[in-house]
Amino acid sequence: MAAAKSAVTAFDMARQNFTTAAEALDLDPNIREMIGYPERCLIVHIPVRLDDGTIKRFEGFRVQFNTARGPAKGGIRYHPGVTLDEVKALACWMTWKCAIVNIPYGGGKGGVTCNPKELSLREIEHVTRRYTSGISPIIGPEIDIPAPDVYTTPQIMAWIMDTYSMTKGYPVLGVVTGKPLSLGGSLGRNEATGRGVFYTIQSTCDLLNIKLRGARIAVQGFGNAGSVAAHLLDSAKNYVVAVSDSRGAIHNAHGLDIPKLILHKEKTGTVLGFQAAEEISTEELLGMECDVLVLAALENAVTKQNASSLRAKIVAEAANGPTTPEADAILNGKGTFIIPDILCNAGGVTVSYFEWVQNEQHMFWNEEDVYSRLEKVMKLSFRDVLKVSQDKKVPMRIAATMLGVGRVAEATRLRGLYP
Ligand code: NAD
Repeated sequence: MAAAKSAVTAFDMARQNFTTAAEALDLDPNIREMIGYPERCLIVHIPVRLDDGTIKRFEGFRVQFNTARGPAKGGIRYHPGVTLDEVKALACWMTWKCAIVNIPYGGGKGGVTCNPKELSLREIEHVTRRYTSGISPIIGPEIDIPAPDVYTTPQIMAWIMDTYSMTKGYPVLGVVTGKPLSLGGSLGRNEATGRGVFYTIQSTCDLLNIKLRGARIAVQGFGNAGSVAAHLLDSAKNYVVAVSDSRGAIHNAHGLDIPKLILHKEKTGTVLGFQAAEEISTEELLGMECDVLVLAALENAVTKQNASSLRAKIVAEAANGPTTPEADAILNGKGTFIIPDILCNAGGVTVSYFEWVQNEQHMFWNEEDVYSRLEKVMKLSFRDVLKVSQDKKVPMRIAATMLGVGRVAEATRLRGLYP
């Protein structure tokens, strides 16, 4: 996707954020050296026999960025644009994210460079099982716990759990989160990221005195995170006036019928062709005058080329790394309130943590428990980040990174993990 067009790589962006936060914290250079780079990067080769009988080799990655606060934790992405650089960046953001929401995890991430849209279900299963067997020496409930990310599903998590369990000889539920409910998944995991995005938007609207009821919303990326956030915003009587996916964007000034749009997307695979909506360009969606723009697609959606055209009062980063550092500076200059990714989308990993806790306890919570605990964590984390932002007079992204980096640095110091 857009990542390829930018000379700045995702890991450059992650490093830049880290350096800014480390400077603001006046972090000891020894600690910077310890926590600013991945602890471990594994590249695996995944040969798979395709349905036509030929063998295709895919490449897979697992990066454990930091484990000072606990086992590595992070999703697995299946996408043609996956590279080691991208996985390193995502693993780095996971590290600060887990520390911001104060759960006892480090950060990791994984990915396979493939296009799941061009693979059959059988081929995806084989890619998954071979990838899992490649990374199985470094994963486990106490070591590194994968989860879903872009184009990976609960079914894929079930295959990961099964493949790993076969090597142990007994079922290991806690090796992966985002599993189906019948295999130890948690109620509420599927909508956790979008729900967390919704809670941080609520907190921001309270802060800025914007009435959430009646607010106008645009959503880039109508997948898991984007469609759930849109649904909750719609249920809170907002007007979701525009949404997009990888094929294009649609608009209705009176508000789109989100429950019907979700069914339409399930049936046709795209938001295009939806009744009572006009097609617009994806750039028009980004530049739409609205209260909240939810970025829920992939990295580098807002760059220095298009940042000045954004007119939203609030940008909610449901996706990881959707705003480049140059775009960030432009938006901050315009007074746009950015809810940074490492805070905004942390609901997913928070409920993944709840799932892992339930698996380890062999006891399951009801939906209400999951949602009320999630709301508490998200709103408390928002307040913690806001406090750093106000005390240190820095934008929310730097404040969030400072909070996350500061907590990881403290754990590293206390453990004495450096000479
Ligand atoms: P998904 O695959 O369910 O959805 C992604 C959506 O983005 C799809 O609808 C796709 O069509 C759309 N898209 C892709 N390119 C686009 C483009 N150029 N313009 C507009 N739309 C585009 O993935 P997801 O799980 O919703 O993840 C989306 C983002 O949220 C990713 O950055 C991911 O890392 C982040 N995230 C997801 C979770 C989670 O639990 N699902 C947790 C944290 C962060």
